[in-house]
Amino acid sequence: MPSVDVELVKQHNPIEQVIASHGVKLQQRGERFVGCCPFHDEQHPSLVVYPNTRSFFCFGCKASGDVIDFVRRKENVGFRRALELLGEAAPQGVATSDDKRGPAPSESPLTVDDRLILAAACDLYHEALRRNERALRYLDSRGIGMPVVRECRLGYSDGQALKPFLRRHRFSLRRAAEMGLLRKDGNEALAGRVVIPELRGGECAWMVGRALNERRLKYLGLSLPKPILGYERVRGQSRVFVTEGAFDYLTGVSWNLPICALLGTHARAERLRFLDRVPEVVLVFDNDDEGQHAARELADSLGARARLLRLPDGVKDLGELGASADGRETFFRLVAELGPAGKEVQHAPAS
Ligand SMILES: [Zn+2]
Repeated sequence: MPSVDVELVKQHNPIEQVIASHGVKLQQRGERFVGCCPFHDEQHPSLVVYPNTRSFFCFGCKASGDVIDFVRRKENVGFRRALELLGEAAPQGVATSDDKRGPAPSESPLTVDDRLILAAACDLYHEALRRNERALRYLDSRGIGMPVVRECRLGYSDGQALKPFLRRHRFSLRRAAEMGLLRKDGNEALAGRVVIPELRGGECAWMVGRALNERRLKYLGLSLPKPILGYERVRGQSRVFVTEGAFDYLTGVSWNLPICALLGTHARAERLRFLDRVPEVVLVFDNDDEGQHAARELADSLGARARLLRLPDGVKDLGELGASADGRETFFRLVAELGPAGKEVQHAPAS
């Protein structure tokens, strides 16, 4: 087979048309298409096709890729054969579904529309942050630079972009309000806040906004189940840092730590189950009575796997340490002073 311009093949084979020509009924939702995934058994659509980036992603089985990946997987062929098939095929128009079934009752409390709304908000806020000098300066003052902005897809709500977008693409404003993105009066709930999303599989699953104006309620999260912030950073790690707040978490990310935040002092047992199999858990809680008390309680429940990292006197929390000139150096010295992890431990915590 002669050499092939892969980009040209992708251009000549619009991904939504190819996927439709493989029998997947796609419905347009704004700039995306959704349909039932052909790679796993489902009744309600989890497959999202993004014509702009010529890619697809399934929220159910996490299948993803470009048009060539789709054909390889669907036809169970190799890369070259997939290119040949795409060269031969003249895709039909997009099949549309007249399916009037309601939203999916799945394990996830989020419907496909919910996920698209979150994805849109996350994109819009991220773009807005990159244009907003004041918000970027605020992050910089807290030791959070552009690499973390990009890695965590941090955003800023200017209060202008989300509602027009939802209207234009016919998403439900009522649903956006239920999710906590819009207020009852229709204004954006996170307006004027730096937004920290929780990403799962690269998609936004939740977000919390930090007010730039100190007189307002500091943190405001969406009205969706509160996650462990940074869950995917710590999954499968042998040593995990656990902290309290969103900026403590961002500080840890900027230092490249396997870190997550409970988004509060206390977390119910079922939210902590992800720690069950972690050999070493370093607790970096706030340097106040409440934080230290909670840290000791959690340490007791974790047993010998837990280490308490006490921040220096006068430093309120990890985020504050991150904003100070020698914060990083101080932190890693404290980590070194923790010494090696405890002995081999039982995997299940004693109850
Ligand atoms: Zn799937």
